[in-house]
Amino acid sequence: MFDLSTYDLKYLPGVGPQRAALFDKELGIHSVVDLLHYYPYKHIDRSRIYAINEITGNMPYIQLKGRILSFESVGVGRQMRLVAHFSDDTGVVDLVWFAGAKYAQQNYKVQQEYIVFGKPSIFNGRYNIAHPEIEKADDVTLSNRGLQPFYITTDKMKKGSLNSHAIEKLVSKALSLIKDPIPETLTEGIIRSEHLMSLNDALQNIHFPQNTYKLRDAQYRLKFEELFYVQLNILRYASDRQQHFRGYIFRRVGNYFNTFYRQNLPFELTGAQKRVLREIRQDVGSGKQMNRLLQGDVGSGKTLVALMSMLLALDNEYQACMMAPTEILANQHFETLKELLIGMDVHIELLTGSIKGKRREQILQGLQNGSVHILIGTHAVIEDNVVFRQLGLVIIDEQHRFGVAQRARLWKKNIQPPHVLVMTATPIPRTLAMTLYGDLDVSIIDELPPGRKPIATFHQYDTNIVALFQTIRQQIKEGRQIYFVFPLIKESEKIDLKNLEEGYEHICKEFPEYSICKVHGKMKQQEKDAEMQRFVNGDAQIMVATTVIEVGVNVPNASVMVIENAERFGLSQLHQLRGRVGRGADQSYCILVTSFKLSEDTRRRIDIMVRTNDGFEIAEADLKLRGPGDLEGTQQSGVALDLKIANLAQDGQVLQRARDAAQRVIDQDKTEINHTENALLWNRLKSLRKTNVNWASIS
Ligand code: ADP
Ligand code: MG
Repeated sequence: MFDLSTYDLKYLPGVGPQRAALFDKELGIHSVVDLLHYYPYKHIDRSRIYAINEITGNMPYIQLKGRILSFESVGVGRQMRLVAHFSDDTGVVDLVWFAGAKYAQQNYKVQQEYIVFGKPSIFNGRYNIAHPEIEKADDVTLSNRGLQPFYITTDKMKKGSLNSHAIEKLVSKALSLIKDPIPETLTEGIIRSEHLMSLNDALQNIHFPQNTYKLRDAQYRLKFEELFYVQLNILRYASDRQQHFRGYIFRRVGNYFNTFYRQNLPFELTGAQKRVLREIRQDVGSGKQMNRLLQGDVGSGKTLVALMSMLLALDNEYQACMMAPTEILANQHFETLKELLIGMDVHIELLTGSIKGKRREQILQGLQNGSVHILIGTHAVIEDNVVFRQLGLVIIDEQHRFGVAQRARLWKKNIQPPHVLVMTATPIPRTLAMTLYGDLDVSIIDELPPGRKPIATFHQYDTNIVALFQTIRQQIKEGRQIYFVFPLIKESEKIDLKNLEEGYEHICKEFPEYSICKVHGKMKQQEKDAEMQRFVNGDAQIMVATTVIEVGVNVPNASVMVIENAERFGLSQLHQLRGRVGRGADQSYCILVTSFKLSEDTRRRIDIMVRTNDGFEIAEADLKLRGPGDLEGTQQSGVALDLKIANLAQDGQVLQRARDAAQRVIDQDKTEINHTENALLWNRLKSLRKTNVNWASIS
């Protein structure tokens, strides 16, 4: 017997070297098994034939069986089309070609019996089907027609005459090659306890299901399997780490923490902050190495949690460090923390790329001899020449700019890795968090400090700028500051920059009496920082910028965020930008400016923004609207997910079951070393990791 997983696709009858190359290049399909795992994106019911007199106004794709009575060319010039009058015994419909008329007329014969497939519509009081799919009636045995699969193909494939229908035929041929069942990829135990269809049946039924129930079972099986292996990979990784590394134990809550709590803490902690601190304390006291993701909407007070966790490290004679994605943010954290620590005997330093020479030497020395307690910085802190005496805790702020690989580098800073707390203001839907950060424990701050006024969000068409400028003038008169954000999708796009420049000039003209600063990605870091600083100091009243201001910048006095071309931003991004205001005690506003013509999707995005300030609700909506592939943070996190059949927006329950099953496997293997049945799973995981780039990059 030959092995279908190594059986080169080019030897499948009907493929050959040229099409095989197309499959390879366009879809990454090499073997017959790869082809079997290329699942259709939809099915259409072809089990039933309709009579022409059954056709009504609004029908989906249907099949008719009958004969062409005659052909006719209708209209002139661009209106010209070929019409075939098609009849069964019950009536007549028109088959219409606006293109490819010659081919149709040559190939389809009058009075031959055909099965015609398409979507009927009404034109001039007659039913017609445009560009129907036509097959000779005797070629089609209805019994095997059930649900017809449809496959995504690329333009290049279509040019090589590999359309959906061609793929369908090849898949059918490939399935017929299966003489012995394809080896199972899940254990009997899992298949039984999860009531799964066998792999063999699933592959048959995902392509050619006899009915919708079989299709559903096949989909479930394949989704489960896909998510199961992603989870097994992540959980194995987490479990390995736990077995190899012990965590430092922070036994005591000591002077640093208590003094801060009693004397320096400027306000009462929110309930959520207290809960998260308890969760962190439990981790760092347990002997396990903490790997925790702290999610909390912008302004929810993550910095304070970070600081108090660091003080806990100090109380146990460890150092702590906190990383931010940009220099501006690192600066801001440094200033904020220094201020919060006033009067306390804590030595805190800042290390960024621009701190050089003697100053840098001093800091590095202080870290090595332990006199520096807390280090704040950018990527600079994970460079190899930064050596700590005893680093106990690392905090990573605004995580989505920090890849998993960078996280891993931290662990090499000690013999034993420090505890890691990753903070993000991008709320991540649960399913996505479980998948992307499935090796991390999750804490959530779901409560804003008291007294915050929710940001009021409005939608405004760009035709109504006068009213907008009035609002802004009023706010500046009251002493507030204003953001204008312009989209910059690709930093290289000249048009975007032109938009920004024009916007800037327009605003300068409109507000000659005020000082206006400008920041975009094309500027040098130093220029950027200087402009930003003018705004932070309050020297400039208006900031015109691209999304570079998105992350973390804190100017409590800024009360209006105007987002130009809001239709060009994703939901999460809009939410992030909006979070730049509403940080002070005053009422803040977010104004989404769009053109008049909006797509359905955009309208929905804008509506959601206007309706809610809840980051989690927005993240869920974003996941549903865009799918996880595009979700912000997915790419940057270094774990671009490439799921074939499961959908994280819809398959939350399957995911949970898959994760539980994967956890059971890991637990089994811990108690009975090399649980024999599970060897199959580990081997499968190994081969998946070899072929799947994304997975390999997780560890
Ligand atoms: P983020 O979660 O976005 O990092 P920050 O930590 O910057 O939020 O906090 C936002 C603001 O809220 C800061 O000015 C901070 O001082 C303030 N803040 C944090 N916690 C509380 C609290 N419990 N009560 C009142 N204000 C708080
Ligand atoms: Mg923050």
